[in-house]
Order: sequence, then structure tokens, then C-alpha cells
Amino acid sequence: MILDNHGREINYLRLAITDRCNLRCFYCMPQSGIQYINRSDLLSYEEMLRLVKVFAAEGISKVRITGGEPFVRKDVVPFLSKLTQVKGILEVNITTNGTKTLPYLKQLEDMGINSINLSLDSLNKERFFQITRRDIFDQVHETLFALMESTIKTKLNMVVMDGKNIEDIESFIELTKHYDVAVRFIEEMPFNGTLGQGNQELWPMKKILGHIESKFQVEKLIDQKSSTSKNFKVKEYKGSFGIIPAFTRTICGDCNRIRLTPKGSLRTCLYGEGVINFRDMMRNGSTDKEIVSALKVALNHRAKNGFEAEKRRDSNIPISESMATIGG
Ligand code: SAM
Ligand code: SF4
Repeated sequence: MILDNHGREINYLRLAITDRCNLRCFYCMPQSGIQYINRSDLLSYEEMLRLVKVFAAEGISKVRITGGEPFVRKDVVPFLSKLTQVKGILEVNITTNGTKTLPYLKQLEDMGINSINLSLDSLNKERFFQITRRDIFDQVHETLFALMESTIKTKLNMVVMDGKNIEDIESFIELTKHYDVAVRFIEEMPFNGTLGQGNQELWPMKKILGHIESKFQVEKLIDQKSSTSKNFKVKEYKGSFGIIPAFTRTICGDCNRIRLTPKGSLRTCLYGEGVINFRDMMRNGSTDKEIVSALKVALNHRAKNGFEAEKRRDSNIPISESMATIGG
């Protein structure tokens, strides 16, 4: 078991396998895209598998694959299959925009992927286009329904944005009436690749919940330990919904997560900077034991919460890097 300096058990790794993406979501990237990392600077699949094996031996039992868009990286499916077989890894989850996922669904079911978080910010084709700047709604919509019928647990991620998709909150809640799906409303964060691009008015958790409660009869659900969302359901609806206080950061107290960026940099908090580069360590010949020691040192200096992590940042590095570079 690995504990951080605040006594929190760390058992969840978020692994961003690429920073490349085929969408340009307003809250994540500028229209012109971001400067992508050279392919040779990305962690290779072999390097990722080595790190996961090393971390799993120390107590990491869950991995979330994210990016960028995981399914734009070549050979992702054989990699996922190997990942599900790593000793000690009990859950492999994926976050995807759903534009390229559908052809692999059967393979993902067969290899035992535990859950898929599908990012979908609107159920309206036009609003989807305005947010993602790509006309690809129909594929994602089809993926959503195929996922809900599959054996893979499905969650929907919707970033709540003033003036962009508030109308959709109600439609997503209505989706939970007939489908056993968990919709998660996410507070927008400043990680959009452009200083000042975000919305003027943030919708914090309280406002999102108040908005829902004004229209539906809401019941609180019990949150699992280290859950990123505060969870609820509408009375007699099949599915549930959650709110992720990603910006107001009221969930840091039992955070069990670490992140590896596509370049192999370890982030012990989403709001912090990279603390060690495991890719460089591996390419310079470090042993597994040295990797574990470096991980433990980093976790011994972990910020208490996202506010402390943000304060510790080098002030020259703006907090507007894209989520695709960090790994959402
Ligand atoms: N491309 C995949 C996708 O969109 O699901 C995986 C990577 S994406 C960076 C991971 C998650 O981060 C998505 O659910 C996305 O909505 C969320 N995200 C990206 N930028 C964000 C921001 N500025 N604030 C809040 N959530 C954000
Ligand atoms: Fe791409 Fe995901 Fe970022 Fe949208 S949120 S631009 S789909 S990485």
C-alpha cells in the first residue's frame, strides 16, 4: 500500500497515453489546437506497461486511460489488452470522446474493461458542434447507446458551461430516467490551452445542484470513498447523476489519484506541476527500485489539496495548459 504524506492511500493511476485529439472542445483546447508533443517524446507502450507493473507491485490497483483522445493513438487496443493482464491491476477504465470507440466495443468488453466515461457535453447536435468545433455528433450519440447496452459500466461526463450547454442539464437528467447510466456534471477548470478562454461565469457545484433541484425531486446517494463526484439520483429514475467539484476542489481530502502525462511526468495533483519524469529516468537506465523510491519521495511531498498545489506552481507557467497535455 502506498500512502502520501497526508495519510491518503494512493491506488489509482490516470495515464494519458497521448495529447493528440480529433476534437477541439472549447474548454480544453483552442480552435487552432495545441502544440503536440513529438512522437518520440511520448511514453512508449512498453514504457507505460513497465511503469504500471512497477506501480501495481506497490499498491496501484486501478488505471484510467485518458489523453488527449486515447483512440487516436495507434495500437491502443492491444495495449489495453496487455494492461488488463498486469498482475495487481483490478480495474482498467477509459475516458474517451467516443468518436472512434465504437468499432472496438466488443473487444473492450471481452478484455474486461471495467468502465468507460464518455465525454459528451450536449445532446443537441448544433450545440455539440459549437462546443467541440467538429461535426461528429452522430457517431458519439451512437456510441453512447451502444455503450449503455454493453456490459461495460457507462458514465457520461458533461462540462457545465454558462451560455453553452445549460439547457442540456435537464436533457441529461431525463436520460437517467430510462437508462442505468451515471451522468457527471463537471465544473469547468482553467485547463483549456489558452489564457482567458474559459467562461466568464463559473457554474459551481452548488449552482448546478440548485438548478437540478428546482426541476426534479433529488435524492442524495452514498458516495464511495475517494469518489471524484458527489452523487445523487432523481426519485424513481433508473440512473444517477454526480457533480464533480473540479474547480472548487472540495474532494481533495481523500484523493487517491496520481497522473502520468503523455511525456511520463508524474503529477501528484491536477493543479500542480510535474514532479518527476519517469520517461527520462527509464531512458537513462534507472532500475525499478529507483523508480519506486522516486515515486515515494514525490508522494511524501504531496500538496494537501488543489489550492496548495496551485500555489506551489512556478508562477511563470500559466495554469492554462490544455487538459489534453495533462491527462483529464
Ligand atoms: N479525449 C477524452 C475525452 O474527452 O473524454 C479524454 C481526455 S479529456 C482531457 C478528459 C476529460 O477532461 C473529459 O471528460 C473532458 O470533458 C474533461 N475536461 C477537459 N478540459 C476540461 C476543463 N477545462 N474543465 C473541466 N473538465 C475538462
Ligand atoms: Fe479532445 Fe477530450 Fe480535450 Fe475534447 S476534452 S478536445 S475530446 S482531449
